[in-house]
Amino acid sequence: MTSEMVVAVRDPRGFRSLVMGFREDGTVVFASETCAFNLIHARYEREVEPGEVLVATKSENGRGSVNVERFHELEKAESLKLCLFELFYLSRPESFVFGHSVYLTRYRLGELLAEDFPVDCDFAMAVPDSGMVSLLGYASKLGISIQQALIRSHDSFIQPREVHRKRKVLMKLAPVPEILEGKKVVVVDDSIVRGTTSRIIVEILRSAGAREVHLRIPSPPVIDSCYYGVDTPTKEELLLFKMSQAEACDYIGADSLEFLSLERIKAKIGNGRHFCDACFTGCHIGCSKRAVELAV
Ligand code: SF4
Repeated sequence: MTSEMVVAVRDPRGFRSLVMGFREDGTVVFASETCAFNLIHARYEREVEPGEVLVATKSENGRGSVNVERFHELEKAESLKLCLFELFYLSRPESFVFGHSVYLTRYRLGELLAEDFPVDCDFAMAVPDSGMVSLLGYASKLGISIQQALIRSHDSFIQPREVHRKRKVLMKLAPVPEILEGKKVVVVDDSIVRGTTSRIIVEILRSAGAREVHLRIPSPPVIDSCYYGVDTPTKEELLLFKMSQAEACDYIGADSLEFLSLERIKAKIGNGRHFCDACFTGCHIGCSKRAVELAV
């Protein structure tokens, strides 16, 4: 970006989202997801296409307004690799990413989770706020009630790094014992990465009186790091790389733990082959299926 122009480039495989919009005065704006436009009262125009290079320059009539030109197209990749993790975890629910509503996608994944892994429970709840939208889909599909049995605190006067991890989680999420006492609950969270927070949450719910805690995740297990720009932990830190699903369930302390399968998700989202799923399969670009089988 200079005072005269903005150049927007999206990589040919399209890993990360890049969208374009206009403010009321005609100024072009670029952002990683559409929710940013709400903050600055901009109107969504379209996605910057994978491989596209756009140049926005000031027009001669009117300060701040711009002309946008398709300057160049980078060499086409053999296939797109749109980041699947954006839909599950990274993007805000009110955003549109890769032409998909993040809210509706998460809601539908919650419904799939209910079809595949129902639990006869007293109520379902989410880990706030990450599992909330999928919880709504899950509970609606099964016709079960939901409760807000963990209350999220949005402010804290103690710096989080000064305190122990469990205390940090407790400062953010407080249980409601009168709802949990003696109950069998399903907890929906968006993903499990290191597993430490999930373990603490299950412990908190049990300490507050929950009789059974069943964890349901509307995404596949994360088993590898990302090398395409998403800041993920190292492979060795990932719970589902280190452990089998049964071992992870024991470690977390849940009565059961289930993940939605990649196949189900891709079939639901459509155009599954256009998505990158390397952190769920361990198969990065240039990696053969055989190498993954050997690694697993
Ligand atoms: Fe997204 Fe995972 Fe692919 Fe990285 S490896 S781009 S986080 S899907």
